[in-house]
Amino acid sequence: MKEVYTVADLREWGSATADLAKPARLAVLGHPVIHSLSPQMHAAALDREGIPTTYVRIDVAPEEFSEALALMAQNGFIGANVTIPHKKAALEAVTNATEHARRMQAVNTIVFEADDTMSGFSTDGPGLVRAIREEFSLDLKDLRVLLLGAGGGAGRSIAVQCAIERCERLVLANRTLAKAQALAHELADDFRSDRLVGPGERLAAVALDSPALEKEVAAVDLIINATALGMKRTDPSPLPTRALSACHIVYDTVYANGSTRLVDEARAVGARAANGLSMLVHQGVLSYEIWFGHEPDVAIMRAGIASSPMRA
Ligand code: NAP
Repeated sequence: MKEVYTVADLREWGSATADLAKPARLAVLGHPVIHSLSPQMHAAALDREGIPTTYVRIDVAPEEFSEALALMAQNGFIGANVTIPHKKAALEAVTNATEHARRMQAVNTIVFEADDTMSGFSTDGPGLVRAIREEFSLDLKDLRVLLLGAGGGAGRSIAVQCAIERCERLVLANRTLAKAQALAHELADDFRSDRLVGPGERLAAVALDSPALEKEVAAVDLIINATALGMKRTDPSPLPTRALSACHIVYDTVYANGSTRLVDEARAVGARAANGLSMLVHQGVLSYEIWFGHEPDVAIMRAGIASSPMRA
């Protein structure tokens, strides 16, 4: 099996995948996609259930995206995951997107339906909800949340999910303040109530480098990092350490290096902290549920990632 297939391979799918014992009928599409851990995670669940399907990576440039989907439909694919930079294009390409995916402005899970249509779903936000429950035994809806990186795709999914869950309080922080302000404007109706007891707005936007951020940190329970900071081992934390206290819960969506400076610094002050591996697992679990109609073995999927040589 190739580490990564291409659209040229999709055009000759029979010969390109002739060496596979089980036909490739599930894939993750991205550009680049070589680092995706989804194949290992889904292979573990497919093998456990004896489903005769291989899950592969396909590198698809933006201009090839529509052709790739058409070829996958022709080649009898069950479904696909979609990652950077295709989530918005996938929303536009599918025949039916859920209302939830439309609100997210993103599709990360596609089903190729029997009548040649495509359905689109977004599992990133619901995956985060399950991850927070698993890591901390808490529900997002009960928490005051500070979201760092509210200007990116992951940040948008998390912010909209917080709004859908009606979380207690949401502070949107971003390097480019205007993006956080625009998102706050969009979500304003979801936070129009006086449910919050105590001082402070239920919904606020703040710049990542503003002195006001530290004041906001003192009035939240859960801090989520959805910035790109932490992807490189040398990256600084997105928050000054002095802002953190033992009362905080910290969830870093970054999982590439096992731990991040934010997670290490949070643990050092006695806060509970976790990296984004559980969000990755649960968005995958939800995709699998959409394709096969039942929940896979979550522990098996997690073990599939842990045993991956790319993770080491
Ligand atoms: P994206 O769309 O490119 O957004 C990047 C975000 O990071 C923006 O808010 C950007 O701020 C901010 N940022 C970038 N460089 C920064 C810096 N040097 N200092 C401060 N802020 C900076 O990327 P994305 O797809 O949302 O991904 C963001 C993170 O989420 C990544 O670290 C990724 O690993 C993680 N993620 C995890 C999962 C999971 O399942 N665990 C899923 C998806 C994503 P500006 O708006 O100012 O540019």
